[in-house]
Amino acid sequence: MIISDAGLKIIEKIEKSGFEAYFVGGCVRDVLMGKTPGDIDITTNASPADIMKIFKKTYPTGINHGTVTVAEEGITAEVTTYRCEKGYNDGRHPDKVEFVADINEDLLRRDFTINAMAYNPSRGLVDNFGGQQDIENKIIRCVGEPDKRFSEDALRMARGIRFAATLGFEIEEKTLAAIQKNAHLAEKISNERIAVEFEKTVLGDFSEKALLLFETGLINHIAENSKAIDFSALKKLVELPKITPLRFAIIMNDGAAAFLKELRFSGEIIKTTESLMAGLGIENPIDIKKYINKNGMKCAQLLTYVNSMQYKTELQKILVEKHPVFVRDLEIGGTDLMEMGITGVQTGQVISRLQEWVWENPHENKKEKLLKWIKEEI
Ligand code: ATP
Ligand code: MG
Repeated sequence: MIISDAGLKIIEKIEKSGFEAYFVGGCVRDVLMGKTPGDIDITTNASPADIMKIFKKTYPTGINHGTVTVAEEGITAEVTTYRCEKGYNDGRHPDKVEFVADINEDLLRRDFTINAMAYNPSRGLVDNFGGQQDIENKIIRCVGEPDKRFSEDALRMARGIRFAATLGFEIEEKTLAAIQKNAHLAEKISNERIAVEFEKTVLGDFSEKALLLFETGLINHIAENSKAIDFSALKKLVELPKITPLRFAIIMNDGAAAFLKELRFSGEIIKTTESLMAGLGIENPIDIKKYINKNGMKCAQLLTYVNSMQYKTELQKILVEKHPVFVRDLEIGGTDLMEMGITGVQTGQVISRLQEWVWENPHENKKEKLLKWIKEEI
């Protein structure tokens, strides 16, 4: 099994220094599923201090719980010392992280069977909880007692649903029941961490599984404004590109901005989501021009993924025929108006009426015609 050549070199280097090291977690899962792994996680019995001695370029990204980021061979890998976790009195963080000597003990702390496998090229795959079998059967199952695992760390519930939505797996019965039972614990989790999982869920290849957030009741404990989500619209996401505000716009109603703000999404994402929501279903050329004028071309382009064929045709026409859309496109300026004796507040009023007229009559945007229209109409 080949996971990552660069990652392999990192493992070999750790082992040459007398320690053991394995690929672990998502990268093992992804390769077993025939996918290219995202980030490379390595687990080792070397301490963070050892790792920082072995490699030239390291970053102590999570040193308190044993993680050092190693940059080597053109990649970065997260190298984490075997550890176990003790006491989760807040339902979010272990009270204490202890380094352990044995990989088997490290794997016990991991969330799901499919994420709790490790691989070393000379020692092979370590799969203590039936992770391979669960990949085969497309099942998300907790390592150990689900009820206990979710009360230790409530984020795992959102991660479980995220994996269902990204991998297209079913959540095993006891694991699912435990999410239902412990959903209320999600209130303790930071909004930012929940937001990461929520976004990945909505962007998943199987995003219709986000319905599980609703069915388990988890969504009600994730945000006060969860009513903003229209779960019946999830099926529309399948064909859409993985563009966050586009997918959000499809599954949100009134209260979208409040919901996204609660989860601490960026102002940019909130604004684009709202703009896209405002443009859903438009198709008349004047509406489209007004829309572009207010929300910009980027949003208008994104709407081609969701609006009607007529919308696409009209937008194309506006672009190809270079219809005037913005004030700056008008073949007339402030000086021309001044020369006609139009000043002060009247300027703005005339411009906006003129703009409306030109949206309706794009081919009349000639200075003479505009001056004539003003003389007749104002
Ligand atoms: P992704 O493809 O999103 O990177 P991943 O499974 O690699 O998925 P990470 O968040 O990168 O997820 O975590 C790496 C590994 O650490 C997981 O595979 C899992 O073994 C373990 N892990 C991560 N978060 C938790 C958690 N909250 N509880 C228990 N184990 C966790
Ligand atoms: Mg990962």
